[in-house]
Amino acid sequence: MRKSPVIKAEDVAVLEDYIRQSSRIGIVSHTRPDGDALGSLLALQRFVSACFGDGKDCRILLDAEVPDTLRFLLQPEEEGKILIPAPGDEMAARYAAACDLLVFLDLNQISRTGGLAPLFREKNGRRVMIDHHPNPDTGAFDLLFSETAVSSTCELLCGVLTQLGERIACPLPKACLDPLLAGITTDTNNFANSVFGGTLDTVSALLEAGADRENILEELYNKYPERRIRLMGQLLDRELVITDQGVAYMILDADTAEAFGIREGETEGFVNIPLSIDRVILSLFVREQADEYRVSIRSKRGWSAQQLAVRYFEGGGHEQASGGKIRLDEKTKSKVEVAALIERYTHEFLSHEK
Ligand code: 5GP
Ligand code: MN
Repeated sequence: MRKSPVIKAEDVAVLEDYIRQSSRIGIVSHTRPDGDALGSLLALQRFVSACFGDGKDCRILLDAEVPDTLRFLLQPEEEGKILIPAPGDEMAARYAAACDLLVFLDLNQISRTGGLAPLFREKNGRRVMIDHHPNPDTGAFDLLFSETAVSSTCELLCGVLTQLGERIACPLPKACLDPLLAGITTDTNNFANSVFGGTLDTVSALLEAGADRENILEELYNKYPERRIRLMGQLLDRELVITDQGVAYMILDADTAEAFGIREGETEGFVNIPLSIDRVILSLFVREQADEYRVSIRSKRGWSAQQLAVRYFEGGGHEQASGGKIRLDEKTKSKVEVAALIERYTHEFLSHEK
């Protein structure tokens, strides 16, 4: 594969040393893992197991169950063997405390690990970050592979693992191909956005090596439960609001989600739909959760989803795709109050942008 200029050979050499010198390795990603998070976690875990031998205990620490929509990436035997789920779980805490090496994927700051974050308060082993978000917390890591001009962490990781594989004469194992391609596919919204020249080089190499794109597409996009489409219809018909300034938002309250039986991951992509309307420049999808409202934000070019997320929703992300939250407090308890808040924030934001 064409060598990426952003991945330095000396950094790959350091990563090799770190892995060689470690007997217990923890691999971690952000809360509510998406395709890029799970794809990169699995690819790295499988690479280390296949290329560095059985002497290493290398596991994935997750703060949630794997969403049903991404379960196809897992091999059945892996579940009990390489995944350590659940925050606050004793096992996760014990494992994390005894790691010589922690690799953080698809996140730019450790707080993005959500319920797992307290496990990493004390620094025990070395810390590596491989990620494509802007503004990484450089001080928190011993080694960084940080690049924003890629589609996804999976694309960046594919470059890192390809170079590492060349160093140690272990070509990218077959089991890494589909997770990497799945992560690139979901983070680009099936190649609708964030596609760079290098992205297509990477995908070309993955397909040449035998990645099964047909199966990934089938699993990702053609296996949703019926309730997802029915909820989507209801939200678009009854809940979608578009302000005079072209801000589209939909709020999914907990009662409606429960009535439809909606599970984690099943509202994936909803936020993108209103952006197809010509006058819409910003789209927000807001979902009520137990202790907060989660906010997904997408923007058209020229408007910054990221700035909106940072300034008003305690979040962040990419220029055109970001997320954050609205805390539940006295002012924002009901859907009506949340709607008023969104309108106020976005109005203020767009007034300043002009
Ligand atoms: P999504 O809307 O798909 O949940 O998230 C889109 C992107 O926004 C993610 O890839 C991630 O980079 C970012 N993001 C989502 N939620 C948060 C958050 O709470 N904090 C930060 N810093 N970034 C977030
Ligand atoms: Mn990502």
